[in-house]
Amino acid sequence: MEYNVKVWRQKNAKAKGHFETFAFDHDCREGICGACSLYVDGRAHGPDDAVTTCQLFMRHFKPGATITVEPWRSGAFPVIKDLVVDRTAFDKIMQAGGFITVRTGSAQDGNNILIPHDDAELSMDAAACVGCGACVATCKNGSAMLFVAARVSSLALLPQGRPEAARRARAMVAKMDELGFGNCTNTRACEMECPKHVTIDHIARLNREYLKARFSE
Ligand code: SF4
Repeated sequence: MEYNVKVWRQKNAKAKGHFETFAFDHDCREGICGACSLYVDGRAHGPDDAVTTCQLFMRHFKPGATITVEPWRSGAFPVIKDLVVDRTAFDKIMQAGGFITVRTGSAQDGNNILIPHDDAELSMDAAACVGCGACVATCKNGSAMLFVAARVSSLALLPQGRPEAARRARAMVAKMDELGFGNCTNTRACEMECPKHVTIDHIARLNREYLKARFSE
């Protein structure tokens, strides 16, 4: 099968017309998440199906189709070169508070800490986030709220995450703002594009956690 592929390049790039001359980011973290940092025909991810994404998604094009490939463009994800996008802003947000500081030691007995089933399910839904950044790339505000909400929510719902919940919410939101991500205006574009189906319910939980944290200062 043959496709026509239009690839975005920098103005000063040497137009040799071969893929191998392009800088390209290979860090697709699960092979299903859109982490190649590309818009394919204007979409940051692909069809609304968790098992098809841009590389696999391309296989759904009809032979002879013209496919346009561009790097994600969002203020906090600067383009390094051609199709390579710098997403280390997500790592910095995680370093600000996306963890729990406990000694893990050896594994505890199962069910040592009882967690209501619904809370465990919601936490796992949020923890499914793979940190790809498709939510930011598709948001007209360049907001990272869905990503931050997934991290804050997955820990806030569990007893292990409660002791540092306030500090975590404050620190991660502050870092997100510092790095230049935009604000959420509830367009739900992030939810539509997320390959792991993280929902904006988690943004509502993040907002509650953040408000509680500010009142507890
Ligand atoms: S919330 Fe979804 S789209 Fe955003 S980083 Fe996580 S997996 Fe990717």
